[in-house]
Amino acid sequence: MRHHGKSCRGAARGEREAQVSATGGQLRLGLVIAVLLLLLVNVSGLWSDTTAQRVYAVLQACTGIAVLIVGLAVASRLTGVARTWRLLVVATILCQTVGEAIWWFTRGGTGGTAAAPAIAAYFLAALLALVVLALLARIGIGGGHPHGLDRAARAVAAIDGVVAAISFAILAMLAGVGALTGVALPRSGSTTVVAAYSVLELMVVVAAVLIAMLYRPDRPYRTNFMLLAGGAVAIVTSDRLMAYLHTVGVERGDLWSFGLVLGPLLIAYAMLPTKPRPAQDPDRDAMYWAQLLLPYSGFFGTALLFAFHVLIGQQLNPFVVCGAVTMVSLVAVRQVIVMRAQSQLTQRLYDAQQRLAHQVHHDPLTGLPNRLLLSERLDAAIGRGPFVLIFVDLDDFKEVNDRFGHAGGDELLCLVGNRLRRCIGESDTLARIGGDEFAILIDGSHDPPDVIADRIRVALRDPFAIHGSSIRVRASMGLVRPNPDDPLPTSDDLLRQADVSMYAGKRVGKDTAVIYRPSLGVSTDFPTALRTAKGGIPDGFRLAYQPVVRLPDAVPVALEALARWTAPNGTEIQPDAFVAAAEAAGLGAMLDAMVLNLACREMCSAGINLVLHVNIGGARLGSIAFEQQVRRTLARCGMTPNQLVLEITETVPLLDLADAASQIARLNAIGVKVALDDFGAGYSSLTYLHSLPVQMIKLDRGLAVGPEPDRIETLYRSVVRLSDELGVDVIAEGIESAAQASTVYAAGCRLAQGHLFGQAAPIDALASLREVLSAR
Ligand code: C2E
Ligand code: CA
Ligand code: CA
Repeated sequence: MRHHGKSCRGAARGEREAQVSATGGQLRLGLVIAVLLLLLVNVSGLWSDTTAQRVYAVLQACTGIAVLIVGLAVASRLTGVARTWRLLVVATILCQTVGEAIWWFTRGGTGGTAAAPAIAAYFLAALLALVVLALLARIGIGGGHPHGLDRAARAVAAIDGVVAAISFAILAMLAGVGALTGVALPRSGSTTVVAAYSVLELMVVVAAVLIAMLYRPDRPYRTNFMLLAGGAVAIVTSDRLMAYLHTVGVERGDLWSFGLVLGPLLIAYAMLPTKPRPAQDPDRDAMYWAQLLLPYSGFFGTALLFAFHVLIGQQLNPFVVCGAVTMVSLVAVRQVIVMRAQSQLTQRLYDAQQRLAHQVHHDPLTGLPNRLLLSERLDAAIGRGPFVLIFVDLDDFKEVNDRFGHAGGDELLCLVGNRLRRCIGESDTLARIGGDEFAILIDGSHDPPDVIADRIRVALRDPFAIHGSSIRVRASMGLVRPNPDDPLPTSDDLLRQADVSMYAGKRVGKDTAVIYRPSLGVSTDFPTALRTAKGGIPDGFRLAYQPVVRLPDAVPVALEALARWTAPNGTEIQPDAFVAAAEAAGLGAMLDAMVLNLACREMCSAGINLVLHVNIGGARLGSIAFEQQVRRTLARCGMTPNQLVLEITETVPLLDLADAASQIARLNAIGVKVALDDFGAGYSSLTYLHSLPVQMIKLDRGLAVGPEPDRIETLYRSVVRLSDELGVDVIAEGIESAAQASTVYAAGCRLAQGHLFGQAAPIDALASLREVLSAR
């Protein structure tokens, strides 16, 4: 708390100081204006010439003394370089004042040249001024520019220096003979001495202007330097101006040289300590404006001087005119350079902005649009017309990374990107939205989604060459085509739907293309429903039973229990989808136990004396608890074990066949039979038949369809013969027509299942079903 109070007080004090310095600034400006007014009154002829001369001398002396006092007072409180440069300034002014004093007391009347010691003091003062400028230049521009000055900036600085030199030279040249009369520094009658001093003055002006232009805003003493440079330039030009006015015969010309009074005043201000200011709004930074206008002040001053010169009827000598023409040309060149640099900068800025915009909207690896740009295009497409959104996720991409390293993976992603781009139109968008995920927006297309999916699959079919190996890429796709009659979806909705469809496909297998329907999203809620039921029956869940019949008379010998679920929103969900969702959520065992229980209970209470087939996930074969569960359930319902057949449904390959075999053997030991479901499709293969002691196989319904019935018959016949020899029963699944039934029967198959014999139905409907069957 105390700390807080302290810092508050600190801040308040800082504010007060800032106010003081603000009022200080106003006071200083007021003083400048007051002195200026006094100088104007003094020159206006209100009092006698001698008095005016005295007033001018007093003012000059006062400002000079002010520099000495302020400089010494401030320097005494400081150390290091801050003290050094102030003391040097004090020394400069001291030299100058000493020179003036000597001249004042030794001169012969108004004007009058000065004695040698005075002239020496003037020279020393000018040299000291150069030393001060050099010292501050080292602080303000030395130590290396962060970016280095570019060519344009160097050229501009050089031109500024030359323009300053020319304008001062013009002034010095116009000053002419006046300079030799002693009214102007160094108050010598010798042309050589005056010329030498003028060169020193010129160096001061050029150095002041150049350093002021290059002084970096973040360096200390910037404001001090600007005031100092301003003061020095004011003194030096006023001095020449005085000589000029004398030459052209302007009355009281010396009184017009305000710079000799105001210059020291500025220098006195320059002595005051300033706080280094953080970068601020350039518009409010006086120094910024000073730097901006400075290069043109010499140019402007020369123009005024010329106008004055011509108006009072004076001639311009050819050197001066040449100098002026050169100066004008240089300023024009400077303008061109600055404008060119400006436009280059603008162009660079524009390019950088474009690059940034591209980076924001594109994937750095493939250069394809990213998710952000896709969403924007999707937003634009919504409501404009028909479109299809497709998510493409590469299957087993991780293996590519493992095998070829990330560089190989990256290369493959680029190649896949190129392939996909070739199979879409100009106006379509292909985006990379994640590691191995792409999205395609087909805009304005009336093609059905499955046709588009097929096109993509074909595009990816040819192998890709990575590091000298050829790789086949398969992809899972999720497709969305919004229904024009539904309320407009958002791009987020569509992206989620595409994602849901793609994952629904991934759960079932690889190389899938799933078109979005609302139930897909709901199926993932099944695990929640199952969990909430806590071992009971979830809402909307029930079983349907499909008969297994004997051939050729189609007498039912068994019933297969098939799960059904209506989601809370009323959508009927496909068993494949919700069973996979339960397995994925780790609730497969819970589902199977629940189905087993319910099926046994329903069969017993319906009083149907048929064998019961129940589907179980392959993963159940890894659990000892499952066998005990089966035993308990049978006992509870009073069923004999040989009334139960467990169908092993495969969603993932069985990992440990030996373990699975011993599980099956244990189930067999208690009298329960085991069937291999969907034999001939997916993972269920001859290896399983070879390793697992099953009593039954169910031939996948995919095998029962095909253009050549002879081939089908041959296939069934071989499997039946093989199974016979192994002592395994065969059930032909998916028999929908009498032709199929006779084919499989001819092949030796004695058991069948399919819509021809009856669809899955609730247990209550089975009594009538049995009547229908027995009537055939
Ligand atoms: P499955 O065990 O192979 O079940 C046979 C599927 O084929 C059932 O689909 C059935 O309705 C369908 N079907 C039967 N006859 C015909 C026919 O003549 N033509 C055609 N086109 N289809 C026929 P359903 O009920 O959709 O079940 C799909 C899969 O879901 C099942 O395949 C099974 O793998 C799984 N499943 C169903 N219920 C359960 C369950 O209680 N537990 C477990 N673990 N899986 C289940
Ligand atoms: Ca089955
Ligand atoms: Ca099956």
